[in-house]
Amino acid sequence: MSSSIDYEDTIKIDHLYSISELVSQSTDWKPALEHLSRFLRTIFIYDNMVIYSVDQATQATDVFYARAIGRGRRAEADLAWGENIAYRITEKPQIINEEPDTTPELDRLQRPYFLGLPVNSSRYLGAMVFIRFGGPSYTQKDIQLATFVSHQIAILLDRIRINQEKEEIETRHQQMKLQENFISTISHELRSPLGFIKGYTTTLLRSDTTWDQSIQQEFLEIIDQETDKLLELITNLLDSARLQSGQLRIVFSFVRVEPLLTDLIARAEIQYPGLVIQAKMASKHISIMADATRLTQVLDNLVSNAVKYAPGSKLLISVKEENDGIVISFQDHGPGIAPEHLPYLFDRFYRVIDPSKSPHGTGLGLYICKQIIDEHQGKITVESTVGKGTIFHIYLPFQPKNTSVHGLIPEVKS
Ligand code: ADP
Repeated sequence: MSSSIDYEDTIKIDHLYSISELVSQSTDWKPALEHLSRFLRTIFIYDNMVIYSVDQATQATDVFYARAIGRGRRAEADLAWGENIAYRITEKPQIINEEPDTTPELDRLQRPYFLGLPVNSSRYLGAMVFIRFGGPSYTQKDIQLATFVSHQIAILLDRIRINQEKEEIETRHQQMKLQENFISTISHELRSPLGFIKGYTTTLLRSDTTWDQSIQQEFLEIIDQETDKLLELITNLLDSARLQSGQLRIVFSFVRVEPLLTDLIARAEIQYPGLVIQAKMASKHISIMADATRLTQVLDNLVSNAVKYAPGSKLLISVKEENDGIVISFQDHGPGIAPEHLPYLFDRFYRVIDPSKSPHGTGLGLYICKQIIDEHQGKITVESTVGKGTIFHIYLPFQPKNTSVHGLIPEVKS
Protein backbone atom coordinates (compact mmCIF):
# COMPACT_ATOMS: atom_id res chain seq x y z
CA MET A 1 0.00 0.00 0.00
CA SER A 2 1.47 3.35 -1.00
CA SER A 3 1.47 6.23 1.50
CA SER A 4 1.90 8.89 -1.19
CA ILE A 5 -1.15 10.69 -2.62
CA ASP A 6 -2.36 9.28 -5.88
CA TYR A 7 -3.02 12.46 -7.89
CA GLU A 8 -5.03 10.57 -10.52
CA ASP A 9 -7.62 9.78 -7.86
CA THR A 10 -7.97 13.27 -6.43
CA ILE A 11 -9.61 16.30 -7.89
CA LYS A 12 -7.06 18.83 -8.99
CA ILE A 13 -7.34 22.15 -7.25
CA ASP A 14 -6.77 24.09 -10.46
CA HIS A 15 -9.80 22.36 -12.02
CA LEU A 16 -11.97 23.46 -9.11
CA TYR A 17 -10.47 26.92 -9.40
CA SER A 18 -11.25 27.07 -13.13
CA ILE A 19 -14.86 26.02 -12.53
CA SER A 20 -15.48 28.51 -9.74
CA GLU A 21 -13.74 31.29 -11.68
CA LEU A 22 -15.89 30.58 -14.72
CA VAL A 23 -19.03 30.71 -12.60
CA SER A 24 -18.06 33.83 -10.64
CA GLN A 25 -17.28 35.80 -13.79
CA SER A 26 -20.47 34.96 -15.66
CA THR A 27 -23.44 37.26 -15.88
CA ASP A 28 -25.52 35.24 -18.32
CA TRP A 29 -26.48 31.63 -17.58
CA LYS A 30 -26.46 30.24 -21.12
CA PRO A 31 -22.86 31.08 -22.12
CA ALA A 32 -21.75 30.22 -18.57
CA LEU A 33 -23.26 26.73 -18.79
CA GLU A 34 -21.88 26.30 -22.32
CA HIS A 35 -18.34 27.09 -21.07
CA LEU A 36 -18.78 24.98 -18.00
CA SER A 37 -20.06 21.91 -19.84
CA ARG A 38 -17.26 22.24 -22.41
CA PHE A 39 -14.59 22.57 -19.73
CA LEU A 40 -16.06 19.74 -17.69
CA ARG A 41 -15.81 17.47 -20.68
CA THR A 42 -12.00 17.82 -20.54
CA ILE A 43 -11.86 16.45 -16.98
CA PHE A 44 -14.98 14.33 -16.65
CA ILE A 45 -16.48 11.77 -19.04
CA TYR A 46 -20.11 12.20 -20.04
CA ASP A 47 -22.29 11.84 -23.12
CA ASN A 48 -25.19 13.94 -21.91
CA MET A 49 -25.55 16.57 -19.25
CA VAL A 50 -29.04 17.85 -18.47
CA ILE A 51 -30.20 20.35 -15.88
CA TYR A 52 -33.86 20.14 -14.90
CA SER A 53 -35.80 22.79 -13.11
CA VAL A 54 -38.69 21.82 -10.95
CA ASP A 55 -41.87 23.79 -10.53
CA GLN A 56 -42.28 24.03 -6.79
CA ALA A 57 -46.07 24.15 -6.98
CA THR A 58 -46.73 21.29 -9.41
CA GLN A 59 -43.43 19.38 -9.13
CA ALA A 60 -43.33 19.30 -12.96
CA THR A 61 -39.80 19.00 -14.34
CA ASP A 62 -38.62 21.11 -17.22
CA VAL A 63 -35.30 21.01 -19.09
CA PHE A 64 -33.36 24.12 -18.22
CA TYR A 65 -30.18 23.24 -20.08
CA ALA A 66 -29.00 20.20 -22.03
CA ARG A 67 -25.75 19.30 -23.68
CA ALA A 68 -25.30 16.10 -25.67
CA ILE A 69 -21.85 14.95 -26.68
CA GLY A 70 -22.60 11.39 -27.69
CA ARG A 71 -23.60 10.74 -31.26
CA GLY A 72 -26.51 8.74 -32.61
CA ARG A 73 -28.76 9.54 -29.68
CA ARG A 74 -32.28 10.80 -29.79
CA ALA A 75 -32.19 13.88 -27.62
CA GLU A 76 -35.84 13.53 -26.48
CA ALA A 77 -35.31 9.96 -25.29
CA ASP A 78 -32.23 10.98 -23.28
CA LEU A 79 -34.10 13.88 -21.71
CA ALA A 80 -36.99 11.60 -20.77
CA TRP A 81 -34.64 9.13 -19.04
CA GLY A 82 -33.01 11.86 -17.05
CA GLU A 83 -36.39 13.23 -16.11
CA ASN A 84 -37.19 10.20 -14.04
CA ILE A 85 -33.93 10.60 -12.07
CA ALA A 86 -34.59 14.36 -11.68
CA TYR A 87 -38.05 13.64 -10.36
CA ARG A 88 -36.71 11.22 -7.76
CA ILE A 89 -34.06 13.70 -6.65
CA THR A 90 -36.54 16.49 -6.18
CA GLU A 91 -38.87 14.22 -4.26
CA LYS A 92 -36.03 13.36 -1.92
CA PRO A 93 -32.78 15.31 -2.35
CA GLN A 94 -30.11 12.66 -2.88
CA ILE A 95 -27.30 11.62 -5.20
CA ILE A 96 -28.39 8.84 -7.56
CA ASN A 97 -25.72 6.68 -9.14
CA GLU A 98 -27.50 4.15 -11.29
CA GLU A 99 -25.84 1.45 -13.36
CA PRO A 100 -27.62 -0.39 -16.16
CA ASP A 101 -28.18 -4.02 -16.84
CA THR A 102 -24.78 -5.16 -18.09
CA THR A 103 -25.99 -7.98 -20.33
CA PRO A 104 -23.06 -8.22 -22.77
CA GLU A 105 -25.17 -8.49 -25.94
CA LEU A 106 -26.82 -5.14 -25.23
CA ASP A 107 -25.63 -2.29 -27.42
CA ARG A 108 -23.58 0.46 -25.69
CA LEU A 109 -26.39 2.93 -26.27
CA GLN A 110 -28.78 0.69 -24.39
CA ARG A 111 -26.58 0.77 -21.31
CA PRO A 112 -26.87 4.27 -19.80
CA TYR A 113 -24.98 5.02 -16.55
CA PHE A 114 -26.76 7.81 -14.69
CA LEU A 115 -25.41 10.20 -12.13
CA GLY A 116 -28.02 12.57 -10.73
CA LEU A 117 -27.42 15.36 -8.20
CA PRO A 118 -29.62 18.02 -6.64
CA VAL A 119 -29.06 21.62 -7.78
CA ASN A 120 -30.57 23.33 -4.80
CA SER A 121 -30.12 26.89 -3.77
CA SER A 122 -32.15 29.39 -1.82
CA ARG A 123 -34.29 30.24 -4.83
CA TYR A 124 -33.94 27.34 -7.16
CA LEU A 125 -34.88 23.70 -7.00
CA GLY A 126 -33.63 21.35 -9.63
CA ALA A 127 -31.44 18.43 -10.57
CA MET A 128 -28.44 17.78 -12.77
CA VAL A 129 -28.15 14.44 -14.54
CA PHE A 130 -25.14 13.04 -16.38
CA ILE A 131 -25.43 10.06 -18.72
CA ARG A 132 -22.60 7.85 -19.89
CA PHE A 133 -23.57 5.31 -22.52
CA GLY A 134 -21.81 2.03 -21.93
CA GLY A 135 -19.96 3.32 -18.85
CA PRO A 136 -17.48 3.55 -17.22
CA SER A 137 -18.97 3.58 -13.72
CA TYR A 138 -18.78 6.87 -11.83
CA THR A 139 -15.90 6.87 -9.35
CA GLN A 140 -15.88 8.55 -5.96
CA LYS A 141 -13.80 11.32 -7.51
CA ASP A 142 -16.39 11.79 -10.30
CA ILE A 143 -19.18 12.10 -7.75
CA GLN A 144 -17.23 14.66 -5.71
CA LEU A 145 -16.43 16.70 -8.79
CA ALA A 146 -20.06 16.56 -10.01
CA THR A 147 -21.27 17.60 -6.55
CA PHE A 148 -18.94 20.59 -6.64
CA VAL A 149 -20.25 21.50 -10.12
CA SER A 150 -23.88 21.21 -9.00
CA HIS A 151 -23.18 23.57 -6.07
CA GLN A 152 -21.49 26.02 -8.42
CA ILE A 153 -24.44 25.89 -10.80
CA ALA A 154 -26.80 26.61 -7.91
CA ILE A 155 -24.69 29.67 -7.03
CA LEU A 156 -24.67 30.78 -10.67
CA LEU A 157 -28.44 30.46 -10.98
CA ASP A 158 -28.98 32.32 -7.73
CA ARG A 159 -26.73 35.16 -8.82
CA ILE A 160 -28.40 35.44 -12.20
CA ARG A 161 -31.82 35.45 -10.55
CA ILE A 162 -30.71 38.23 -8.19
CA ASN A 163 -29.42 40.25 -11.16
CA GLN A 164 -32.72 39.75 -12.96
CA GLU A 165 -34.62 40.89 -9.89
CA LYS A 166 -32.37 43.94 -9.65
CA GLU A 167 -33.09 44.80 -13.28
CA GLU A 168 -36.83 44.30 -12.73
CA ILE A 169 -36.72 46.64 -9.73
CA GLU A 170 -34.81 49.24 -11.75
CA THR A 171 -37.33 49.00 -14.61
CA ARG A 172 -40.21 49.32 -12.16
CA HIS A 173 -38.51 52.31 -10.56
CA GLN A 174 -38.07 53.93 -13.98
CA GLN A 175 -41.74 53.25 -14.78
CA MET A 176 -42.82 54.78 -11.48
CA LYS A 177 -40.76 57.87 -12.26
CA LEU A 178 -42.37 58.10 -15.70
CA GLN A 179 -45.78 57.65 -14.09
CA GLU A 180 -45.09 60.47 -11.63
CA ASN A 181 -43.95 62.77 -14.45
CA PHE A 182 -46.98 61.70 -16.39
CA ILE A 183 -49.37 62.71 -13.64
CA SER A 184 -47.82 66.16 -13.38
CA THR A 185 -47.74 66.50 -17.18
CA ILE A 186 -51.29 65.31 -17.60
CA SER A 187 -52.69 67.66 -14.97
CA HIS A 188 -50.90 70.53 -16.68
CA GLU A 189 -52.10 69.36 -20.11
CA LEU A 190 -55.69 69.12 -18.91
CA ARG A 191 -55.75 72.30 -16.89
CA SER A 192 -54.14 74.61 -19.38
CA PRO A 193 -56.62 74.23 -22.29
CA LEU A 194 -59.53 74.08 -19.83
CA GLY A 195 -58.26 77.32 -18.29
CA PHE A 196 -58.24 79.00 -21.71
CA ILE A 197 -61.66 77.67 -22.65
CA LYS A 198 -63.21 78.74 -19.35
CA GLY A 199 -61.48 82.13 -19.38
CA TYR A 200 -62.44 83.10 -22.94
CA THR A 201 -65.98 81.77 -22.60
CA THR A 202 -66.54 83.73 -19.37
CA THR A 203 -65.16 86.84 -21.06
CA LEU A 204 -67.45 86.44 -24.05
CA LEU A 205 -70.44 85.91 -21.77
CA ARG A 206 -69.89 89.03 -19.68
CA SER A 207 -73.11 91.03 -19.72
CA ASP A 208 -71.39 94.37 -18.97
CA THR A 209 -69.23 94.34 -22.11
CA THR A 210 -69.84 93.92 -25.81
CA TRP A 211 -67.08 92.58 -28.05
CA ASP A 212 -66.73 93.47 -31.67
CA GLN A 213 -66.94 90.78 -34.34
CA SER A 214 -63.16 90.34 -34.83
CA ILE A 215 -62.44 89.98 -31.09
CA GLN A 216 -65.26 87.43 -30.75
CA GLN A 217 -63.81 85.55 -33.74
CA GLU A 218 -60.32 85.57 -32.19
CA PHE A 219 -61.58 84.29 -28.81
CA LEU A 220 -63.67 81.58 -30.45
CA GLU A 221 -60.66 80.43 -32.48
CA ILE A 222 -58.64 80.08 -29.29
CA ILE A 223 -61.48 78.10 -27.68
CA ASP A 224 -61.64 75.93 -30.82
CA GLN A 225 -57.88 75.22 -30.80
CA GLU A 226 -57.79 74.46 -27.09
CA THR A 227 -60.76 72.11 -27.47
CA ASP A 228 -58.84 70.29 -30.22
CA LYS A 229 -55.87 69.91 -27.87
CA LEU A 230 -58.11 68.46 -25.18
CA LEU A 231 -59.72 66.11 -27.67
CA GLU A 232 -56.31 64.93 -28.89
CA LEU A 233 -55.13 64.38 -25.35
CA ILE A 234 -58.21 62.40 -24.35
CA THR A 235 -58.05 60.32 -27.56
CA ASN A 236 -54.39 59.52 -26.84
CA LEU A 237 -55.17 58.56 -23.27
CA LEU A 238 -57.99 56.28 -24.37
CA ASP A 239 -55.89 54.69 -27.13
CA SER A 240 -53.07 54.12 -24.70
CA ALA A 241 -55.45 52.47 -22.21
CA ARG A 242 -56.91 50.31 -25.00
CA LEU A 243 -53.42 49.30 -26.13
CA GLN A 244 -52.48 48.39 -22.59
CA SER A 245 -55.49 46.12 -22.29
CA GLY A 246 -55.07 44.74 -25.83
CA GLN A 247 -58.38 46.18 -26.97
CA LEU A 248 -57.29 48.44 -29.81
CA ARG A 249 -58.85 46.90 -32.88
CA ILE A 250 -56.96 47.03 -36.16
CA VAL A 251 -59.13 46.63 -39.24
CA PHE A 252 -57.13 45.72 -42.32
CA SER A 253 -58.08 46.72 -45.82
CA PHE A 254 -56.12 47.53 -48.96
CA VAL A 255 -54.85 51.07 -48.73
CA ARG A 256 -53.39 53.08 -51.59
CA VAL A 257 -50.43 54.94 -50.20
CA GLU A 258 -50.29 57.89 -52.58
CA PRO A 259 -53.79 59.29 -51.88
CA LEU A 260 -53.24 58.66 -48.17
CA LEU A 261 -50.14 60.86 -48.23
CA THR A 262 -51.70 63.49 -50.49
CA ASP A 263 -54.57 63.84 -47.99
CA LEU A 264 -52.13 63.96 -45.09
CA ILE A 265 -50.14 66.77 -46.69
CA ALA A 266 -53.25 68.75 -47.66
CA ARG A 267 -54.56 68.47 -44.10
CA ALA A 268 -51.22 69.43 -42.56
CA GLU A 269 -50.86 72.50 -44.78
CA ILE A 270 -54.25 73.76 -43.62
CA GLN A 271 -53.62 72.91 -39.96
CA TYR A 272 -50.07 74.29 -39.83
CA PRO A 273 -49.86 77.35 -42.08
CA GLY A 274 -46.24 77.99 -43.00
CA LEU A 275 -45.20 74.33 -42.82
CA VAL A 276 -43.38 73.29 -45.97
CA ILE A 277 -43.67 69.61 -46.87
CA GLN A 278 -41.73 68.00 -49.68
CA ALA A 279 -42.91 64.53 -50.72
CA LYS A 280 -41.09 61.90 -52.77
CA MET A 281 -42.75 58.62 -53.78
CA ALA A 282 -41.03 55.80 -55.64
CA SER A 283 -44.30 54.88 -57.37
CA LYS A 284 -47.82 56.26 -57.42
CA HIS A 285 -49.37 52.82 -57.44
CA ILE A 286 -48.32 51.24 -54.19
CA SER A 287 -50.99 49.55 -52.09
CA ILE A 288 -50.53 47.88 -48.73
CA MET A 289 -52.79 46.03 -46.39
CA ALA A 290 -53.27 48.27 -43.39
CA ASP A 291 -55.74 50.01 -41.13
CA ALA A 292 -56.07 53.34 -42.93
CA THR A 293 -57.43 55.22 -39.91
CA ARG A 294 -54.72 53.99 -37.56
CA LEU A 295 -51.99 54.53 -40.13
CA THR A 296 -53.21 58.08 -40.68
CA GLN A 297 -53.07 58.57 -36.92
CA VAL A 298 -49.39 57.54 -36.93
CA LEU A 299 -48.50 59.80 -39.86
CA ASP A 300 -50.43 62.75 -38.37
CA ASN A 301 -48.52 62.27 -35.16
CA LEU A 302 -45.16 62.42 -36.91
CA VAL A 303 -46.18 65.61 -38.72
CA SER A 304 -47.41 67.20 -35.50
CA ASN A 305 -44.16 66.23 -33.71
CA ALA A 306 -42.10 67.77 -36.52
CA VAL A 307 -44.11 70.99 -36.15
CA LYS A 308 -43.73 70.97 -32.35
CA TYR A 309 -40.12 69.90 -32.02
CA ALA A 310 -38.56 71.12 -35.29
CA PRO A 311 -40.37 74.43 -35.75
CA GLY A 312 -39.54 76.27 -38.94
CA SER A 313 -37.97 73.21 -40.56
CA LYS A 314 -39.02 71.83 -43.91
CA LEU A 315 -40.47 68.30 -43.63
CA LEU A 316 -39.42 65.70 -46.18
CA ILE A 317 -41.67 62.68 -46.60
CA SER A 318 -40.48 59.85 -48.80
CA VAL A 319 -41.79 56.41 -49.67
CA LYS A 320 -39.79 53.57 -51.15
CA GLU A 321 -40.28 49.85 -51.60
CA GLU A 322 -38.13 47.50 -49.54
CA ASN A 323 -38.23 43.81 -48.53
CA ASP A 324 -41.83 42.99 -49.45
CA GLY A 325 -43.06 46.24 -48.04
CA ILE A 326 -42.64 49.98 -47.98
CA VAL A 327 -40.60 52.41 -45.92
CA ILE A 328 -42.16 55.79 -45.21
CA SER A 329 -39.61 58.30 -43.88
CA PHE A 330 -40.22 61.64 -42.18
CA GLN A 331 -37.16 63.87 -42.05
CA ASP A 332 -36.84 67.26 -40.41
CA HIS A 333 -33.90 69.60 -39.91
CA GLY A 334 -34.81 70.55 -36.37
CA PRO A 335 -32.61 70.51 -33.25
CA GLY A 336 -32.46 66.68 -33.19
CA ILE A 337 -32.49 64.36 -30.18
CA ALA A 338 -29.47 63.47 -28.02
CA PRO A 339 -28.41 59.81 -28.43
CA GLU A 340 -29.08 58.85 -24.79
CA HIS A 341 -32.83 59.45 -25.31
CA LEU A 342 -33.22 57.45 -28.51
CA PRO A 343 -33.63 53.97 -26.93
CA TYR A 344 -36.58 55.20 -24.83
CA LEU A 345 -38.34 57.43 -27.35
CA PHE A 346 -41.13 54.93 -28.05
CA ASP A 347 -41.73 54.16 -24.36
CA ARG A 348 -45.02 55.08 -22.79
CA PHE A 349 -44.91 58.60 -21.23
CA TYR A 350 -41.31 59.23 -22.29
CA ARG A 351 -40.54 62.87 -23.06
CA VAL A 352 -37.11 64.26 -23.83
CA ILE A 353 -37.59 67.79 -22.71
CA ASP A 354 -38.42 69.51 -19.48
CA PRO A 355 -42.24 69.20 -19.28
CA SER A 356 -42.59 72.64 -17.71
CA LYS A 357 -40.82 74.35 -20.63
CA SER A 358 -41.73 72.07 -23.50
CA PRO A 359 -44.47 72.30 -26.09
CA HIS A 360 -47.62 70.51 -24.96
CA GLY A 361 -47.51 66.73 -24.99
CA THR A 362 -47.76 63.64 -22.83
CA GLY A 363 -45.16 61.23 -24.15
CA LEU A 364 -47.89 58.99 -25.52
CA GLY A 365 -47.70 59.86 -29.22
CA LEU A 366 -44.70 57.77 -30.27
CA TYR A 367 -45.70 54.94 -27.93
CA ILE A 368 -49.07 54.72 -29.69
CA CYS A 369 -47.35 54.96 -33.11
CA LYS A 370 -45.08 52.04 -32.26
CA GLN A 371 -47.94 49.88 -31.02
CA ILE A 372 -49.96 50.54 -34.16
CA ILE A 373 -47.00 49.79 -36.42
CA ASP A 374 -46.26 46.62 -34.43
CA GLU A 375 -49.87 45.53 -35.02
CA HIS A 376 -49.13 45.89 -38.74
CA GLN A 377 -46.06 43.64 -38.27
CA GLY A 378 -43.99 46.64 -39.25
CA LYS A 379 -41.24 48.61 -37.58
CA ILE A 380 -40.75 52.22 -36.59
CA THR A 381 -37.22 53.48 -36.00
CA VAL A 382 -35.55 56.81 -35.44
CA GLU A 383 -32.22 58.34 -36.42
CA SER A 384 -31.25 61.71 -35.08
CA THR A 385 -28.25 64.02 -34.89
CA VAL A 386 -28.22 66.95 -32.52
CA GLY A 387 -28.11 70.17 -34.51
CA LYS A 388 -28.96 68.40 -37.77
CA GLY A 389 -32.40 66.86 -37.41
CA THR A 390 -34.40 63.71 -37.03
CA ILE A 391 -35.67 60.98 -39.34
CA PHE A 392 -38.39 58.51 -38.46
CA HIS A 393 -38.64 55.42 -40.71
CA ILE A 394 -41.75 53.28 -40.81
CA TYR A 395 -41.47 49.89 -42.45
CA LEU A 396 -44.80 48.25 -43.35
CA PRO A 397 -45.11 44.88 -45.08
CA PHE A 398 -47.33 44.85 -48.19
CA GLN A 399 -49.36 42.13 -46.58
CA PRO A 400 -49.00 41.30 -42.87
CA LYS A 401 -49.22 37.57 -42.18
CA ASN A 402 -52.45 35.92 -41.01
CA THR A 403 -54.58 39.02 -41.34
CA SER A 404 -58.11 39.04 -42.63
CA VAL A 405 -59.13 41.70 -45.09
CA HIS A 406 -62.08 44.01 -44.77
CA GLY A 407 -62.61 46.28 -47.72
CA LEU A 408 -61.75 46.54 -51.31
CA ILE A 409 -59.38 44.58 -53.47
CA PRO A 410 -56.50 46.87 -54.51
CA GLU A 411 -56.35 48.43 -57.91
CA VAL A 412 -54.16 46.59 -60.37
CA LYS A 413 -50.75 48.23 -60.82
CA SER A 414 -50.51 49.89 -64.20
P1 ADP B 1 -45.12 64.12 -26.83
O1 ADP B 1 -45.01 64.85 -28.12
O2 ADP B 1 -46.50 64.04 -26.30
O3 ADP B 1 -44.12 64.59 -25.83
P2 ADP B 1 -44.19 61.75 -28.25
O4 ADP B 1 -44.23 60.34 -27.78
O5 ADP B 1 -44.88 62.07 -29.52
O6 ADP B 1 -44.75 62.59 -27.03
O7 ADP B 1 -42.67 62.17 -28.39
C1 ADP B 1 -41.75 61.84 -27.35
C2 ADP B 1 -40.61 62.84 -27.32
O8 ADP B 1 -39.82 62.70 -28.51
C3 ADP B 1 -41.08 64.29 -27.35
O9 ADP B 1 -41.33 64.75 -26.04
C4 ADP B 1 -39.92 65.00 -28.03
O10 ADP B 1 -39.00 65.44 -27.05
C5 ADP B 1 -39.25 63.93 -28.87
N1 ADP B 1 -39.49 64.14 -30.31
C6 ADP B 1 -40.47 63.56 -31.06
N2 ADP B 1 -40.38 63.92 -32.35
C7 ADP B 1 -39.31 64.75 -32.44
C8 ADP B 1 -38.69 65.45 -33.53
N3 ADP B 1 -39.16 65.39 -34.77
N4 ADP B 1 -37.61 66.21 -33.24
C9 ADP B 1 -37.12 66.27 -31.97
N5 ADP B 1 -37.66 65.63 -30.92
C10 ADP B 1 -38.74 64.88 -31.13
